[in-house]
Amino acid sequence: MRRNADELAKMRKAGRVVAEIHEATRAAIRPGVSTADLDRVAREVLEQRGAGSNFLGYHGFPAVICTSPNNMIVHGIPSETVILEEGDIISVDCGAIIEGYHGDAAYTAPVGRISTEASRLLEVTERSLYAGIDQMVEGNRLHEIGRAVQEVAEAGGFSVVREYVGHAIGTAMHEEPQVPNYWPGTPGPTMREGMVFAIEPMVNAGGTGTLLLDDGWSVVTADGALSAHFEHTIAVTDDGPEIFTRL
Ligand code: MG
Ligand code: MG
Repeated sequence: MRRNADELAKMRKAGRVVAEIHEATRAAIRPGVSTADLDRVAREVLEQRGAGSNFLGYHGFPAVICTSPNNMIVHGIPSETVILEEGDIISVDCGAIIEGYHGDAAYTAPVGRISTEASRLLEVTERSLYAGIDQMVEGNRLHEIGRAVQEVAEAGGFSVVREYVGHAIGTAMHEEPQVPNYWPGTPGPTMREGMVFAIEPMVNAGGTGTLLLDDGWSVVTADGALSAHFEHTIAVTDDGPEIFTRL
């Protein structure tokens, strides 16, 4: 659906809070910190900004961010017993609600020094996100986003997760249509000015397979290989894509 200028202004504000959470949690990431510590950092930013959380209570989710280390793809639950170690990678996904409008974004960060392969996975996954964002222009077809993401990820020797995808966003975090991070075989709907999407490639160092753990949330790679996740909330505008979740 297309959002008017007033709605876009609210989404811009929500996106800014998400970007601030990214900045604050990134600054807190180091060996010895627990993923519950990162959740507390995010809660503080939400409180300071008077923003609501679209993660807390979502189908019963118990935290305001998802924290997914190493071979975990998405939806990890912050915990006092998950302590970051030198050489880990950690994916942080979070959102915010301002005046009923949502923002949603994710990043994967290194913990201390990481392997060259892990570092390349992060670089390629982030680059695949921006390749997808570049497709968000008036009149283009939605699935060109996934085609561009997939091209970058696979050229890097990595694979794109199929079971979890991006989405339209507005007065709810997850709105229709979904935005695959791969070419699904059809071009999809035409993008129009005022449409807002969360684009979120999940890229695996190994195969595409995923497994859901017994906690009912944590999704890991089936082969145990590393996985990275980058996401932004972006509007299609007359001047090209506008990223809301970046400072
Ligand atoms: Mg997200
Ligand atoms: Mg999302």
